Amino acid sequence: MAKTKLKHETSVPANETHAPHGTPDYPRIVVPPPGPKGREIVKLDKEHSSTSYIKEYPLAISHGRGAMVEDVDGNRYIDFMAGIAVAATGYAHPVVTKAVQEQAGKFLHICGTDFYFEGMSRLCERLAQLGPGKGKKRVFLTNSGTEAVEGAIKLARSATRRTDLVAFRGAFHGRSYGAMSLGSSKTKQRAHFGPFLPGVHHLPYPDAYRSATGGRPLAEWALGHLDELFKRHVSPDDVAAIFIEPMQGEGGYVIPPVEFLKGLRDICDQNGILLVFDEIQTGVGRTGHMWAADYFGVEPDVLLTAKGLGSGLPIGAIIAKESVMKWESGSHGSTFGGNPLGCAAALATLDLVERELAKNARVMGARMMAGLAKLQAKHQVIGDVRGAGLFIGVEFVKSRATKEPAKTLVHDLVQQAFRKGLLLLPCGESVIRLAPPLVVTEYDVDAGLAILDETLKGLTG
Ligand code: PLP
Repeated sequence: MAKTKLKHETSVPANETHAPHGTPDYPRIVVPPPGPKGREIVKLDKEHSSTSYIKEYPLAISHGRGAMVEDVDGNRYIDFMAGIAVAATGYAHPVVTKAVQEQAGKFLHICGTDFYFEGMSRLCERLAQLGPGKGKKRVFLTNSGTEAVEGAIKLARSATRRTDLVAFRGAFHGRSYGAMSLGSSKTKQRAHFGPFLPGVHHLPYPDAYRSATGGRPLAEWALGHLDELFKRHVSPDDVAAIFIEPMQGEGGYVIPPVEFLKGLRDICDQNGILLVFDEIQTGVGRTGHMWAADYFGVEPDVLLTAKGLGSGLPIGAIIAKESVMKWESGSHGSTFGGNPLGCAAALATLDLVERELAKNARVMGARMMAGLAKLQAKHQVIGDVRGAGLFIGVEFVKSRATKEPAKTLVHDLVQQAFRKGLLLLPCGESVIRLAPPLVVTEYDVDAGLAILDETLKGLTG
């Protein structure tokens, strides 16, 4: 079979990210992206890959170091998106790389559903210990976020012998059927794919910037909708679980009031409903704490993680209270879930996050928030800035009075920032999510915000 050979198929160069005089040699645009090699890859991809892929902008990566990404044409970018909040330890972290290389030299697979290996048992132990709250936990390992969500739906139904599920508008839980059924972020993600799981009820998610509460406190207003659901539509005795992102990711980097999550906890306790936190985007140090659950001090019954857990290797987990995870042997499994490379990467990642990166997320997150406050004072189009650690949303509006989403501006901002050497990613209707690798430095934060400032100036005059 003929294979297209790309000219630049070489081994990854171990480029340094600093110039000889010691200052970082990035961002740097040496050819307007995509350059000739990048264009070649884009063309090849467009010819053969699924039309469903998004491809936000034509970045074709060669390699990375820390929070720097270099493309195949030698352009260097500051990464404020971490491959959608995944590259927790940055690119090519030596500790993670070494762990993965060592494991790759031993074995790639044995199937942890059926057999044993130490890395998997250690990761289950580690996550069970790290899970929020004091009680004993058990862990099921998956390949992805959506697989963790699917498993959690099965677990919740089997543990409670109930059918129904509560989820939230703006939620994103993944692309498989159960996860999609819980989702309510963009119609496009559901259009023409139905029917979905029956018995899923969506309620408004409290958004301090946008929810019209009619003067009621935000948490009370949001909990009122759950009350109403139970009064008029579904018996709480039929509800197996409430699935919630403790901070909404895809839906716009929305941070709810803590009273809301505490209220949900109480309602779940009163009605025998499981509280499931989808921490696939918020977990593993991103909020400056291991979990958003720790940030809020609210303990779910089940916590889902993936994304940053393996620093980029596909691995996720369902962490559940022992009283919940009691399903029968053989009732759930996965060929690749808890694969040896993912386990090795996850153990190394958790070491780094515990030792230094959660703290760095707090410190750099505060620096970023302070920088963004200055930008907000300068640029009228920034309607709202909210964040926890390095989970930061910047919402853009046409007018602060009407709060009309500035969708075109966000599109142009993302495209132009890329061409100036800053990688951004939108979410919600008109929000930029700032979710850089947790290894970002002061230099990265300041240089990235300077590009954001300059690009905004260019766009808004
Ligand atoms: N849950 C949340 C909160 C997410 O942000 C995502 C992915 O963006 C998922 C679930 C799905 O994860 P995956 O893409 O690994 O299936």
